[in-house]
Amino acid sequence: MTRPHILFLRTFKPDPLNFVVLNSLAHAVRDTAVIEIVGDLRDRVVMEASWREAFGHDVAMVDIVELLPSTREAWRRDVLSRIEAVDGVVLHISPKDIDFPEFPFGPPIYEMSGDRWEQFMDSPLARPITGRGLLREICYLNRLQRLPDTVVVCDARYQPTLDDLIALGGTMGDATDIRGNLVTPRLTAIDKQVGHLRKAYGGVTYRHPPNGGALLPEFAAALAPTLLEVIASHGSRERPTAELNNLLGTSATPRRLPPDAELKIVAFTNVEEVLFLPPGELTEISHKEMGQILNREAARLGCPYCRARLSEIFFFTRGLQRHGLKGDGERDWPNGICQVCGRKSSLFGDDVLMPQ
Ligand SMILES: [Zn+2]
Repeated sequence: MTRPHILFLRTFKPDPLNFVVLNSLAHAVRDTAVIEIVGDLRDRVVMEASWREAFGHDVAMVDIVELLPSTREAWRRDVLSRIEAVDGVVLHISPKDIDFPEFPFGPPIYEMSGDRWEQFMDSPLARPITGRGLLREICYLNRLQRLPDTVVVCDARYQPTLDDLIALGGTMGDATDIRGNLVTPRLTAIDKQVGHLRKAYGGVTYRHPPNGGALLPEFAAALAPTLLEVIASHGSRERPTAELNNLLGTSATPRRLPPDAELKIVAFTNVEEVLFLPPGELTEISHKEMGQILNREAARLGCPYCRARLSEIFFFTRGLQRHGLKGDGERDWPNGICQVCGRKSSLFGDDVLMPQ
């Protein structure tokens, strides 16, 4: 019988603890499962050194861990196809991916004193708290409906912050009081996306002391039963078969795409690079075409919220029929969704982008 496969995902590649977590994961499942990791040849060198530090020469890495070599270009496709195929996923969230110094609450939010709350409310909104790596992983796991088969692992020190983010991210929109003042912290859309993590199977934290070495036996012991549960429950859960090809590349013909499986024409941008894909039927508008109608100032400013460049915005019009952006007859009304801040803007007048 073939052993079940578990995919190890990391949100911040340079984190040296990635391989300590991987070793511990291998230790947890070594007789029952195969661990997959998508990486490059440099990873192999660091991985093998870390492995020898953890296990010496007694256990061969190749018996438990499978490194799936990938390139920068193919990486997204490779990860998507493995997410679809494996029996379970372990997602390692690195503290570097949650920008802690900028995030002014350590204790749970209900314990926050008045001063700190005000400080938080006054902090600027423009920069998302979470990093891109984390967002992309969550987006892919969510698109393929694999979060229920995912175990989230992170350093115990950061768990309260992550918990807050998950709880707050799940609350849609910013609540305001009667005068229009915000009463919820101003999370950006990217941070709200983290709320999807509440669908994960569960979380296990680890503690890595300064001279913690390359293996965390207690963490491995905690991880093992959780992973066995994930593997056991995976077969019994109904999951619609995802058409992986639909989730990759461009296509001039309509495809059923997330978040609602409506028909969408995404002909210019690889769909795996569009992390914020709007609901409803839509047709993508190219950056070239948008560049031709926006005035120079609007093109220079980019996203009206975060000033990301135009090339970072996914432009589209509702429906599957184009009418063009110019002329006196019926015209398309272009909308943009910024892939940096996740916010929506739309064409105002003939040549300006306005917040929506
Ligand atoms: Zn933006």
